[in-house]
Amino acid sequence: MDINFTAEEAAFRDEVRAFLKDKLPEDISRKVKEHKRLGKEDTVRWQKILNEQGWLALHWPKEHGGTGWSPIQKHIFEEECAEAGAPTVLPFGVNMVAPVIIKFGTQEQKDYYLPRILKSEDWWCQGYSEPGAGSDLASLKTRAVREGDHYVVNGQKTWTTLGQHADMIFCLVRTDPDAKKQEGISFLLIDMNTPGITVRPLITLDGEHEVNEVFFDDVKVPVENLVGEENKGWTCAKYLLTFERTGIAGVGQSKAALAHLKQVAAQQISNGRPLIEDPHFRRRLADVEMELMSLEMTNLRTVAAAEAGGVPGAESSFLKIMGTELRQEITHLFRTAAGPYALPFLNEALHDDFDGNYVGPEFAASVSARYFNFRKLSIFGGSNEIQKNIISKMILGL
Ligand SMILES: Cc1cc2nc3c(=O)[nH]c(=O)nc-3n(C[C@H](O)[C@H](O)[C@H](O)COP(=O)(O)OP(=O)(O)OC[C@H]3O[C@@H](n4cnc5c(N)ncnc54)[C@H](O)[C@@H]3O)c2cc1C
Repeated sequence: MDINFTAEEAAFRDEVRAFLKDKLPEDISRKVKEHKRLGKEDTVRWQKILNEQGWLALHWPKEHGGTGWSPIQKHIFEEECAEAGAPTVLPFGVNMVAPVIIKFGTQEQKDYYLPRILKSEDWWCQGYSEPGAGSDLASLKTRAVREGDHYVVNGQKTWTTLGQHADMIFCLVRTDPDAKKQEGISFLLIDMNTPGITVRPLITLDGEHEVNEVFFDDVKVPVENLVGEENKGWTCAKYLLTFERTGIAGVGQSKAALAHLKQVAAQQISNGRPLIEDPHFRRRLADVEMELMSLEMTNLRTVAAAEAGGVPGAESSFLKIMGTELRQEITHLFRTAAGPYALPFLNEALHDDFDGNYVGPEFAASVSARYFNFRKLSIFGGSNEIQKNIISKMILGL
């Protein structure tokens, strides 16, 4: 295994850097770097720019409009985007449902949905979890009954990220209640404007409206919106999750956050000297930096293995745990750096056009919101406890 970048890969990095310098809108990257609220229009604007360049669909094959990039190219691209302050691409369309449609969809589904996803014409959300089905996803109860040329769907999904903006939702539904748990599930594409769908906000600890409950009350879904075979949706569901966990380590984001934290700690004064010189804070910062370096090495090892044709296995569980814990720890250190100024919460200060007075230093305005928001990282994408179960079985053989 060789984790050094080749001359071609270094040239590719330069190309990505030049593109970001030229095309990433300054107002958007400023919002990302200053942790201001991003709107739907920011994400869509950036996705359209990426699509014009042919760089939106990282994981699709070339014939469908994907980049056809190698794992190393994708890694370089994601790292550069994080450093430049590019917003995260909405994963539900381009990175989740599209690969499922490409692998299991009909020709009509590919012809209709894939170009729309590339052009960001539909905002997608993910309808997997339910009040009684999260870690144990196969317990899901939302029911779809076939009646002629459509299914009638009844039930509830929850934690539906950004579902308030969505045009489409991909859902796991139970089509055979008598079969074994995993065998009676189907994968349906549902238009969010269909009568009988209600979206209700769930406000998270940071006061944001990011997730929702989605209720289905006799919702009619045409049978042509079934992906793959009826009752074989679990195969699609598992295939999609392999894409949900790509790039899960978040190394680029942590590196950018750590660089910012160091800047802040150099400016904040604690006991008459810059916080970065405080021995206790320095030690915690050094711990995070060392962990991040080892995470990056592990991440590069998986990327190099994927480049050589390997399939990431239980290592992605390891990356998920370490990556998310580090991102959470960095938000904790930001709060330490802000001290008492981490406490006041001025909701409007997170708006880009805020021209009022900050209670403390400007960076402190968003640190608590981010700290609370990032509790989600160890829950979604398969909770960290579930990842530990995977490691104990697959790596430790327990
Ligand atoms: C902010 C946010 C956004 C989300 N977005 C979406 C979305 O867009 N679409 C979607 O479908 N879902 C989404 N989810 C749901 C997410 O996938 C689930 O929350 C997650 O799978 C955990 O399920 P749960 O919340 O039902 O918790 P539970 O599964 O009930 O778990 C509760 C606790 O028990 C632990 N636990 C459960 N089983 C085990 C076990 N076998 N061994 C050890 N510990 C265990 C868990 O780790 C957790 O700590 C989102 C969640 C959050 C927080």
